[in-house]
Amino acid sequence: MEGNMEEQREVLGPNSQEAFGNLSQNSFSDFWAAVPAEIYTMSLKNEVEESCRSVDMILAEGFDENLFELLPETSVKEAATPPSSTVPVTTDHPGEYGFQLRFQQSGTAKSVTSTYSERLNKLFCQLAKTTPLELLVSKEPPEGAKLRATAVYKKTEHVAEVVRRCPHHENEDLNGNASEFRSHLIRLEGSERAKYLEDPHTKRHSVLVPYEPPQLGSEISTILLRFLCNSSCMGGMNRRPILTILTLETAEGLVLGRRTFDVRVCACPGRDRKTEEENSEKLQAGNKPLKKRKSTPAPVSCTVATKKSKSGSSAEEEDKEIFLLQVRGRERYEFLKRINDGQELLDRENNKSRAKAAVKPPPAGKRLLQRGERSDSD
Ligand SMILES: [Zn+2]
Repeated sequence: MEGNMEEQREVLGPNSQEAFGNLSQNSFSDFWAAVPAEIYTMSLKNEVEESCRSVDMILAEGFDENLFELLPETSVKEAATPPSSTVPVTTDHPGEYGFQLRFQQSGTAKSVTSTYSERLNKLFCQLAKTTPLELLVSKEPPEGAKLRATAVYKKTEHVAEVVRRCPHHENEDLNGNASEFRSHLIRLEGSERAKYLEDPHTKRHSVLVPYEPPQLGSEISTILLRFLCNSSCMGGMNRRPILTILTLETAEGLVLGRRTFDVRVCACPGRDRKTEEENSEKLQAGNKPLKKRKSTPAPVSCTVATKKSKSGSSAEEEDKEIFLLQVRGRERYEFLKRINDGQELLDRENNKSRAKAAVKPPPAGKRLLQRGERSDSD
């Protein structure tokens, strides 16, 4: 939430300072009253106000400011951190044994069921499809070494919550042979010795397997991971991005090395990887990095932001403004996104035909759900 506010302050300019400054005493509704009507996009004003009321409720119930002091980055205690630390450590640490991960190259074809983006350090995979993960070490770990895989929520506001499967998928397994750990998201296939654990204090799930040294003539050992919910599953991850933490540990649970990567479980891994890589490219090309990604709308949907173009106010210039819109509910999001995609396609077609005459490069930066109708800037 803090990030959103900063972002808005930045894009709305100094005039919005007052609205933000009073936020703690007043409310989001007040804030929205102070925001020029033109930045409401499409006709979502009512929905936005409704969302604001829920944010007001959250604020009224009290906001735990200590939450942000628990950022994983500030609690790095490297190799000696026990696996059951309350706030999971998510920094990579090859350690003494040079622990590394390697994913197979799968590209972004439509049919691909699991693909890894080097650029984003992110795995995109389909529900329940197997992802082979190659492990490398620079020297043999001690006898009895183990590997542990744990899923955690990436964002600070969710990190304290245990990642578990949604009720729907969990109940599907009721009659299965895996019923005692059916709430576990991550599964390790192909090892009879995989142990599914729940930390007695943090309640976090993890799966533990003995480390197997590479076979003769090979430099890698491979494990097979599966994720048994979609990132979008309601009542489960609910579109909140997750990280997978893989640790190499001694028999006693002392961490020897750690690797983490983002995970998105979705229907079209190839397409989503491509989209997110393109978005990240655009972000890097842009001047102002935005914190939000297209694939990760926040659960509380109350942000509409606009970035004013710095110079000029011609229709051409105005058309390049970037608007961010967070939408409550996947269905509505998909609906609005379709409209926006259509407009984007139109724009691209128009740009193509004007490309030869054009001198300026296309606008860089993030395009989330932007103005689906031309009339909203009038
Ligand atoms: Zn699910």
